[in-house]
Amino acid sequence: MTNYVIIGNSVAANAAARRIHDLDPESPITMVSDEPEPYYSRCGLMYYVMDHCWRRDLYIADQEHYRRMNATLVHDKVTGVNAGAHELQLESGDTMPYDKLLIASGTRGNRLGVENEDADGIHDFVTLADADKILAETRTARRAMVIGGGLIGAEAAEVLHALKVPTSFLIREDYFFPILCSELQGRCVEERFAHHNVSMHLQRLVDRFEVNEAGHVSAVIDDAGDRYEVDLVVRSIGVSAAMEFLDGSGIESDRGILVDECMRTSDADVFAAGDCAEIKFPGQERTVIQKLWYTAQPMGWVAGEMMTGGECHYEQTTPYTSAMFMDLDFCSHGEVPAPWNDYEEHNIEAPNGLDCLRLVHEDERLVGATFLGTALTKEDLEHMVSTSMTLSAAIASVQRVFGDKVSDRAPRARIGERRRLSRRPPFWPFGTRRTWREDCL
Ligand SMILES: Cc1cc2nc3c(=O)[nH]c(=O)nc-3n(C[C@H](O)[C@H](O)[C@H](O)COP(=O)(O)OP(=O)(O)OC[C@H]3O[C@@H](n4cnc5c(N)ncnc54)[C@H](O)[C@@H]3O)c2cc1C
Repeated sequence: MTNYVIIGNSVAANAAARRIHDLDPESPITMVSDEPEPYYSRCGLMYYVMDHCWRRDLYIADQEHYRRMNATLVHDKVTGVNAGAHELQLESGDTMPYDKLLIASGTRGNRLGVENEDADGIHDFVTLADADKILAETRTARRAMVIGGGLIGAEAAEVLHALKVPTSFLIREDYFFPILCSELQGRCVEERFAHHNVSMHLQRLVDRFEVNEAGHVSAVIDDAGDRYEVDLVVRSIGVSAAMEFLDGSGIESDRGILVDECMRTSDADVFAAGDCAEIKFPGQERTVIQKLWYTAQPMGWVAGEMMTGGECHYEQTTPYTSAMFMDLDFCSHGEVPAPWNDYEEHNIEAPNGLDCLRLVHEDERLVGATFLGTALTKEDLEHMVSTSMTLSAAIASVQRVFGDKVSDRAPRARIGERRRLSRRPPFWPFGTRRTWREDCL
C-alpha cells in the first residue's frame, strides 16, 4: 500500500487521482485543498456570474466521485512541505504524512503591491468564492473597474457589463492583450468594448486605491494622477504559481515548480502538474509553463502514472486559445511573438473591417496565427500552422475567404444569439473536443 497525497482538487489533481486509482486501486489517496468546494469548473465561472448556468452546473464531482477513487478530500491549507520527513504542515496545525506527493496547487492572482489593496470591494476572478463575492456586489455596485487586460480581465468586464454595472478597464500596455493580439486586433477589441460603453484607459498603472469610512474601495488613482470613482474592482494582472509552502523544502522552483517531462521534481517522491509546474523538456533551453485547463489534465494523468511506478511522459502540445471578447470570436494557434523569439508577423484585415488575422512566420514558414472575427475557425488556423504552410500560400487562401466575407455581417449576430440563448456553460471551452466531463472523469 502506498499513501498518496495530492495538494489541490482541480483538474490536474483529479486527473492524477483517477490514474492512480486505475493503477493502484487498493491504496488510499488524500486530496487536500484550501477551497471548500468539490471539484468544479473554473472555466465556467463567468457563465455562472452572468446567470447563463446554475451554480450547481459548475460542479464536476460529488462525494461519490471521491469514494469511487478511494480518495478522501480534506479542506485545509498546506503551509509547508518537510520533504525529508515526508510530511505536510497544514494551517490547522495538523501534519499529514505521505509516501508519494503530487503538487497540483495551480496559481494565485498577482497583486499590485499598492496602498489599500486589501480593501473590501477589490477582488480577483479566479475561484468560485471570488465569483460569489463579485456576483453579490454587482447588486449594489454603481461603477466598476477591471485592472489588467487579458483573457480573465475581458471575461470579468463582460460579466460586469452583462450585469449592467458601468465598467472600464485600466491597462498597463498600449493596446489590449499584446501577448496574443496584434496591435490591429487589440484596437478592434478596444473599439468593440467601447461600442458597449466599456472604455479602456491604456498605458496606465494603479498608483493607489482610496477607501471610504467603512473600508470599502471608493476610487482608483492611476500613475498620471487621474481618479476613477468606483465601488467594485476586479484585479486581473496575471497569475503566479501557488508554491509559497515550498520555502525551505529544498524542492527546486523558479517561475513554477521545476519538473522534467515526467512531472518529477528535484525530490524523487514529489511530483508537480498543472499550472504550477514549470517543465524542462529534454534538449530544450527554455522551460515551459502552460496555464490552461486542457494541458493541466494530461499533466495530472502523467504524474498519476509516474507516482504508481509507471513510465510515461507529457508531450508538449501546440498552444492554442479560443475566447470571446464581447461578441468577437478570437482564437490563436501555435507560436505567437514573445520576448524570446524574433519571428516576423504579417497582418491581414478583411475589407469588411470585421475580421483580422495575424500570421507569425519564421522566414517563409508559418509558426503561429491569431484571428479575431468570424470568417475563420480555430481549425483553419490549426491547419495552416500544423502543415507549416508558407506565408504566401496562407495569405492567398485567407484573402480568398476574406474576399467572400466582404459584406457578410450575419455570422457575428448569430454568435451573440447562440450565447445568450444558452443556459449551460460550454464546459469545454474549446468547442471541438468531447465534453470535458468525459475527458476528466
Ligand atoms: C475565470 C477563469 C477562466 C478560465 N478559462 C479558461 C478557459 O476557457 N480555457 C482554459 O483552458 N483555461 C481556462 N482557465 C485556466 C484554467 O482554469 C486553469 O488552467 C486550470 O484550472 C489549472 O488547473 P490546476 O489543476 O493546475 O490548478 P487550479 O485549477 O488552479 O487548482 C489549484 C488547486 O490547488 C488548491 N491549492 C492551492 N494552494 C493550496 C494550498 N496551499 N493548500 C491547499 N490547497 C491549495 C486550490 O484550492 C485548488 O483546488 C481559466 C481560469 C480562470 C480563473
